[in-house]
Amino acid sequence: MATEYVTRPRALISRILSGERRYLSAAAIHGLLEREQAKVALSTVYRTLEHLQAKGQVSARVDPAGETTYVSCAGDHHHHAICRVCGKVEDVDCSALEAIGGALKAHHGFVLEDHAVEFFGRCSACA
Ligand SMILES: [Zn+2]
Ligand SMILES: [Zn+2]
Ligand SMILES: [Zn+2]
Repeated sequence: MATEYVTRPRALISRILSGERRYLSAAAIHGLLEREQAKVALSTVYRTLEHLQAKGQVSARVDPAGETTYVSCAGDHHHHAICRVCGKVEDVDCSALEAIGGALKAHHGFVLEDHAVEFFGRCSACA
């Protein structure tokens, strides 16, 4: 059955991403799959990540080294707080940022349409 070849890597990669909760490159995910003796080609990992991203189950960011990394992410609009020590990603509610739209309009006449914000620091385990 053809569907098996599509579903299995997707399930494996989804499980790894939801277990890790940190940004991982396709190569790092491929390495974790190999450690589990799961034979998934790197090209399949890339393709699966693109698919999961298109479905809104994975969020991507380009790390400072220029590499695209992925984290399990779903649900309503929110932001990521990234631990600089262990890399753990926490989903952060956006409501604290809402006042910034009003300030931009008042001080700069700027109409805010969208925003992208990341927080960096140390998680509760690393603080
Ligand atoms: Zn998220
Ligand atoms: Zn941490
Ligand atoms: Zn927001």
